[in-house]
Amino acid sequence: MARCIVIANQKGGVGKTTTAVNLAAALAVMEKKTLLIDCDPQGNASSGLGIYPDDFTENLYSVLYEPAKAREAVYETSFPYLHVLPSTSDLVAADIELVDKPGREIFLRNLVGELGDEYEFILLDCPPSLGLVTLNALCAANELLVPLQCEYYALEGVAQLLKTFELVRKRFNTGLQLLGVVMTMYDGRNKLNRHVKREIWKCFPKHHFETLIPRNVRVSEAPSYGMSVIGYDVKSKGAEAYLALAKEVLCRVPA
Ligand code: ADP
Ligand code: MG
Repeated sequence: MARCIVIANQKGGVGKTTTAVNLAAALAVMEKKTLLIDCDPQGNASSGLGIYPDDFTENLYSVLYEPAKAREAVYETSFPYLHVLPSTSDLVAADIELVDKPGREIFLRNLVGELGDEYEFILLDCPPSLGLVTLNALCAANELLVPLQCEYYALEGVAQLLKTFELVRKRFNTGLQLLGVVMTMYDGRNKLNRHVKREIWKCFPKHHFETLIPRNVRVSEAPSYGMSVIGYDVKSKGAEAYLALAKEVLCRVPA
C-alpha cells in the first residue's frame, strides 16, 4: 500500500500546490511510483504537470462517488513514474453535495484504497479551506505535510490546522500522523523569515524538515510551461531543494 501524504494548510498561497507538484516530481525522478491527486477545484496541480482540462474526460469529481472507476481518471505525465488524477471546477459541487451523504468523509479514502496498491506514494493537494474535500483528504491519508510561509501570521493558521488534525485523528482517522512542516519561499537574507523559521522549528522540534524551500524564480515560472521545476530547470535552487525534501521524506517515518 502506498504512503499517502496529504498536503494541507487552509491558508492560500503558502506553497501547497507548488510543494505537491514538485515533491511528486522529485519522488518520481527517484523512481518511486507516484500519483498526485488534485483535490482543489482550481486544478493548478493538474495544469502544473501539463494536464489541462482539454486533455482529460474523467476527473476527481466524475469518479468521486464511483471508486471502481478511479483508474479511468488517472493520466500519465511526461515523467514515467508520475501519474495525475486531475480536477476541474466541477469539484466545487462536492463540498456542498457531500454534506448530505452518509459517510461523507470517506469518499476519497475509498478512491485511494482502489489505487493504493499501484503506487509507492500518493500525494493529495488540498484546496485553501477546511471544507469537506479537505476533510476527505485528511481521512484518506496516513501522513500530513504542512507547507508554511515564513511570515508573521504563519503560526496562527497552524494552530487551527492542528486542531482539525487532532479532531480528524480522534473521530475519523486514527492512523493519520504528522509527517512534518516545511518552510516555503524562504529568503535567508530576510530577518523576519529567519525569525519565523526559528519560532516554527521551536514549535515543531521533531516535526520540521531541515530542507528550506527558497524563494526561487524558476519555481514560479515552471507552472506556466506545464512543468515541475525538476522538469523545467533541474539545476535551479528550487529543484535542488525539492529533491532534498524528497530525500528527507524517504528517510522520515512519521511518529
Ligand atoms: P497554495 O497552493 O498554497 O495556494 P501555491 O503553491 O499556488 O500556493 O503558491 C502560491 C504562489 O507562490 C504561486 O504563484 C507560486 O508560483 C508561488 N511560489 C510558491 N513557492 C514558490 C517558491 N519557492 N519560489 C517562488 N515562488 C513560489
Ligand atoms: Mg493550491
